[in-house]
Amino acid sequence: MSGGGTASKALFERARRVTPGGVNSPVRAFGAVGGTPPFMASAQGPYLTDSDGNEYVDLICSWGPMILGHRHPAVVEAVTGALEHGTSFGAPSTGEVELAEEIVERVAPVEQVRLVSSGTEATMSAIRLARGFTGRGKVVKFAGCYHGHVDALLASAGSGLATFALPDTPGVTGAQASDTIVLPYNDLASVEKVFAEIGDEIAAVITEAAPGNMGAVPPLPGFNAGLKEITARHGALFVSDEVMTGFRATRSGWYGRDGVAPDLLTFGKVMGGGFPAAAFGGRADVMAHLAPAGPVYQAGTLSGNPVATAAGLATLRHSTSEVYERLDEVSATLGREVSAALTKEGVAHRVQYSGTMFSVFFTEDEVVDFDGVRATESYRYTPFFHELLRRGVYLPPSPFEAWFVSASHDDRAVGRVVEALPAAAAAAAAATP
Ligand code: PLP
Repeated sequence: MSGGGTASKALFERARRVTPGGVNSPVRAFGAVGGTPPFMASAQGPYLTDSDGNEYVDLICSWGPMILGHRHPAVVEAVTGALEHGTSFGAPSTGEVELAEEIVERVAPVEQVRLVSSGTEATMSAIRLARGFTGRGKVVKFAGCYHGHVDALLASAGSGLATFALPDTPGVTGAQASDTIVLPYNDLASVEKVFAEIGDEIAAVITEAAPGNMGAVPPLPGFNAGLKEITARHGALFVSDEVMTGFRATRSGWYGRDGVAPDLLTFGKVMGGGFPAAAFGGRADVMAHLAPAGPVYQAGTLSGNPVATAAGLATLRHSTSEVYERLDEVSATLGREVSAALTKEGVAHRVQYSGTMFSVFFTEDEVVDFDGVRATESYRYTPFFHELLRRGVYLPPSPFEAWFVSASHDDRAVGRVVEALPAAAAAAAAATP
């Protein structure tokens, strides 16, 4: 099994003494694939370097934010410039206005936006606002969609139509989860059914605009439009979670692809340029309910932090059409090469895309929902992952996560992945359950 070297192993041991599981976000512990996670020391462009000096082509890109690659000169300059002026004001400042204007300019359904510090805060606040606006309590989410670790939204699965969710994790009470209704993804009939039964109790439907958190499982044609239509008919809000897809799928996110206008949208990742900045926004009449304009409370000590807004603004301003073209090109090339290598080894698979995020599922069938994801031969991923890691390619350490690329992934970086693929494909072929 591959993984971090001597320095990473020592760091992991130290970390485990002082931090639960040795990491500050569970997936980083390599629990799904085994081995020691390399502890990273630095990053540049498409590459990460770990504490043992090993270099990797980065296909996680910090789980989305690093659309321009690591240490893009414009972002570094913006951040160091901001630092000269102060690191946190706790008072309104220019960067917040500019970042809000940039978001409003790019994403037409966003008439007003509130900045927060994480995607979790964005979805939590959007749900609270939707409840405050509609005066209703229930929220519909889809199995396999992740919206951060908001108590009510961690309620995930449950079979059948209109399953009233049970908490997915200890610490979330039945009461917190009881207003969450989990439905199968891409299944409009189940949404119709639950709205027919209790539509007047439902405040909102929240969905990943194009899911990446069960691997890449894009919406079927008409799914998002159907959600919009059903919610509108019943006086509920359609909340599109663009924390992953926002400013990555296109300059205006997934909205730029399907043109379905949500009532509220959530953002994070790219708009923070590698710093903690996120946002939620949408219809002005809904956002007007937010304090201090309206009664729904929401706040944050570091919201609109000047360093984070500078990084986010620089990232967005340098995300030109050439950047988006390159993201499309790199993800298409890598998907094609992964597929070619696996085909050569006779491994049944599908490469699926949610915009420029993509992932490989070990199955012959199109994957359209979480049950489909669970039915794949995911045991093939572990040896596939480790062969790539050993050869200097850093993939998500889980078969159920999307892969992310950046515009800095040049032909050399792509070539290094392509070179490593045959061994990984052979390992996937040899895997046993
Ligand atoms: N929503 C989606 C779609 C996400 O992918 C994530 C994180 O991966 C979140 C919300 C939560 O964002 P954060 O990790 O910044 O709290």
